[in-house]
Amino acid sequence: MYGAEFVLTSGPNMASPRALSAMSAPVMNPYDPDFLTLFKGAERMVGELYETRNDIVLLQAEAIAGIEAAVRSLVRPGMAVLNIATGPYGHAMGPWLGQFGATVHSLDTDWDNVVDPEDVDAILKANPEIELITVVHCDTPCGTLNPVQEIGQVARKHGVITFVDAASTLGSTSLKVDEWMLDVCVAASQKCLAGPLGLSLISISDEAWNMIDANPSAPRDSFLSLLDWRTKWFAGGKFPAAPNVSDVYGIAAAVSEVVEEGLPQVIARHDRAARACRAGSLAMGLSLFPRRQDIGATCVTTISLPDGVTDTQVRDLALERYGVMIQDSLGAGNVVSIAHMGRTANSVYPLVGLLALGGALTELGHRVDVGAGVDAALATMASDAAAVA
Ligand SMILES: *Cc1c(COP(=O)(O)O)cnc(C)c1O
Repeated sequence: MYGAEFVLTSGPNMASPRALSAMSAPVMNPYDPDFLTLFKGAERMVGELYETRNDIVLLQAEAIAGIEAAVRSLVRPGMAVLNIATGPYGHAMGPWLGQFGATVHSLDTDWDNVVDPEDVDAILKANPEIELITVVHCDTPCGTLNPVQEIGQVARKHGVITFVDAASTLGSTSLKVDEWMLDVCVAASQKCLAGPLGLSLISISDEAWNMIDANPSAPRDSFLSLLDWRTKWFAGGKFPAAPNVSDVYGIAAAVSEVVEEGLPQVIARHDRAARACRAGSLAMGLSLFPRRQDIGATCVTTISLPDGVTDTQVRDLALERYGVMIQDSLGAGNVVSIAHMGRTANSVYPLVGLLALGGALTELGHRVDVGAGVDAALATMASDAAAVA
């Protein structure tokens, strides 16, 4: 009764054993000095992973709530905002911005593509009233990675604030918040950091705080208020609401594991897993969804399905036959994904995903060369190991 043997979905996935066992420790009062030390340590380590000196808010709610809190705090009625939409998550942000009163400019691409920073530059040049950009780092269902480094630089050149949905990327790829001038980022606890579900890890620059401070409609005295965190927690040492102590144990343990392994090593591990999975998919005779390899994310491999099978058919059969949960399309088209997040960017997990996918497709009557896929994935891993040695 514990579900799939392997959870290779793009969140939640398999939390680290250290995080799980940390969560079973006795519950402290949030103002116990030991808890305060743990909480501040977790903030500091999250800042290390973001490579930033910005304030870090650990909002105790699923990343969607963290994203809502951040964007509501930034957007003032009538504010011109550029929303970059390269997939379902970016697309969903548009109506949300409208609901918060923004005048929305949209820069959409095909969902197998990412945005060109020169197009962002041109729009900001032509529309100097734009004050904020919203962009998704990896629009996870598509398996692509937007060039947020260049976007941050272009935005700063025009004096524009940048918001990044980094829910699925923190811990899988570089995200140099200070160097790239990314004002607000939100990451999820349960994806590449292998922590528990239900925390939003939010980085906020001074420039973003200024925008939020000056926004009369930023939430105040609200669970979604970032300003409450600023005045009550950062300035006053009081939590806006009692934190879920056990979840904090979990995320603190998960990020400490990443810090101990070393961020560059952890990023390299996600990169290796993604390359093995891509090589295996191609050798099996399947096509990758992103139109070019160089825009592929490392936290997930998104694979186009042959005509005549659906994502849920493949997912359900992979689960039923092999106890492997792969990711359905989440609205990105006729695709499935195999995630490489935290634990599942280790060992032979990418191969487990390929086997389950290949087995399900074969049973559904599609010819895929599972053996060739396994050989190619193993060869990629072996050549990587040789390169490291
Ligand atoms: C996972 C994820 C979120 C959080 O969304 P949930 O639907 O709650 O999982 C937000 N943005 C992106 C890009 C994500 O991958």
